Amino acid sequence: MKPNVIDEIVKNDLCIGCGTCAGICPQKTLKIQDNEYGEYIPSETRECNSGCGLCLEVCPFSNSENETEIGTKIYGNIEGMNYLPETGYYLDSYVGYSNKFRRSSASGGMTTWFLTKLLKEGIVDYIVCPTPRKNPEKLFSFEILSDENSVKSASGSAYYPVEMSEVIQKIQEIPGHYAVTGLPCFIKALRLATQKNKKLRERIIVTIGLVCGQMKSKNYTKYIAALAGNNNFNKIQSVYYRGKSPEKPVSDYYYQFIDENDSRYKIFWSEGVSEAWINRWFTPNACNYCDDVFAELADVTFMDAWLPEYSKDSMGTNLLLVRSPEVLDIIQNGINKLEITASKISVEKVIQSQSGVLELKRKQLSHRLYLAQQKGLKIPEKRVNPSKDIGLLKKREIKLKALMQEESKQIFLDNCQSQRVDVKTFRSRMNPFVRQTYQLRLLGKFTLLPMRAIKRICK
Ligand SMILES: Cc1cc2nc3c(=O)[nH]c(=O)nc-3n(C[C@H](O)[C@H](O)[C@H](O)COP(=O)(O)OP(=O)(O)OC[C@H]3O[C@@H](n4cnc5c(N)ncnc54)[C@H](O)[C@@H]3O)c2cc1C
Ligand code: SF4
Ligand code: SF4
Repeated sequence: MKPNVIDEIVKNDLCIGCGTCAGICPQKTLKIQDNEYGEYIPSETRECNSGCGLCLEVCPFSNSENETEIGTKIYGNIEGMNYLPETGYYLDSYVGYSNKFRRSSASGGMTTWFLTKLLKEGIVDYIVCPTPRKNPEKLFSFEILSDENSVKSASGSAYYPVEMSEVIQKIQEIPGHYAVTGLPCFIKALRLATQKNKKLRERIIVTIGLVCGQMKSKNYTKYIAALAGNNNFNKIQSVYYRGKSPEKPVSDYYYQFIDENDSRYKIFWSEGVSEAWINRWFTPNACNYCDDVFAELADVTFMDAWLPEYSKDSMGTNLLLVRSPEVLDIIQNGINKLEITASKISVEKVIQSQSGVLELKRKQLSHRLYLAQQKGLKIPEKRVNPSKDIGLLKKREIKLKALMQEESKQIFLDNCQSQRVDVKTFRSRMNPFVRQTYQLRLLGKFTLLPMRAIKRICK
């Protein structure tokens, strides 16, 4: 019997809940379910008597090949291909937005434009992406879509667990060409799965990645809904995470929750969302061991243009990294037909736009790996090495965030009864950590001041 995902991944709290293992299992012995923290994990519906080990081979957190190795096989021989350790392989990079979908999309609407273009041009028969469900316990799920209107209603970012087990099974049953959207770890799982499964390999012909800094659990959405004033999450029918206001910069977006009576609850990034996001409350443990920022194994990766020259407007702008010559043609066609407003931008700018995520997933990851090693935890092999050499303040920040990540999950459970969250108690118990983070930031600013003064004098 080869090792399986339950023993190697789930028991070591390394599962991101992508569902690939359950989708590919030939015996269908795995099922994806919520755990108490509102994260998806697989469990065995009956004992596995095959022991083939396929589930583990497709898991993005197993020690199978890394993103660079897989990327070299897919993109390494394409003419004109470039490579940088930060981005992985890329042919070209663009900045822009969709003239049609910008307003209703998360950022510049280029992803929705690209997906609808794939359908319209007959390049694929189906788009596979997370879609709103109007089910309080499952607000989003991966669905197989075949028309422009459905793809448009799926636009926006799902900061909510979604899993691919059912769609992976359906793709194996229903012939056709598919395009799939995914976060970096999901795209890696798909690439591993297509290496093992001929039907998936022949049918999934385009992969679309989103840059990702972290995922959040279902309990995160319940907490923010309560913070916004809706304290009965059984009644929430839908959530939109990236509302834009004409009077605000796109970076201060709002979440909107709609309940069964069509009452709307709105909360802006600056009103408490950022506190939970930045401090990694409700983030799955697997995200602590992720080094892929730019979805290195996707044919095209979309992201927000978090650069001062673009993030001040209220509408949103995308950056994208292209890795496939066919995708380059589609982008050029969209520019020529005036469907998108886009131009080339340097890859350095693309990297700059995600500097915070790179710091988190590369520099800080190496210290997280060191800390995990010290504790004797089983951790996946990564492309950065464990290191204890990091500044004192950063060291403290990493520890504090890890503490908040763990505590937020438990404190939420302690203060959540009959579908209601006691936000006041939750916040008061998280407050000591928040205070320490604030003090740490202040200290950081003060230690920077003399450095700046010295530099000025030296100049
Ligand atoms: C969890 C998460 C973290 C992210 N972190 C960053 C970040 O740190 N920096 C950054 O620049 N961008 C990040 N993004 C990407 C960003 O939020 C936008 O999705 C991206 O800029 C595309 O914008 P758009 O207007 O082109 O997308 P839209 O036109 O709105 O289309 C988005 C498409 O992506 C699909 N989608 C939404 N959520 C998911 C999901 N969870 N998994 C798979 N497909 C999905 C939708 O179904 C839709 O088809 C993140 C996205 C997610 C979901
Ligand atoms: S394949 Fe996905 S769902 Fe399965 S164990 Fe790995 S991360 Fe979890
Ligand atoms: S941070 Fe990494 S592991 Fe977590 S959801 Fe994003 S891509 Fe997956």
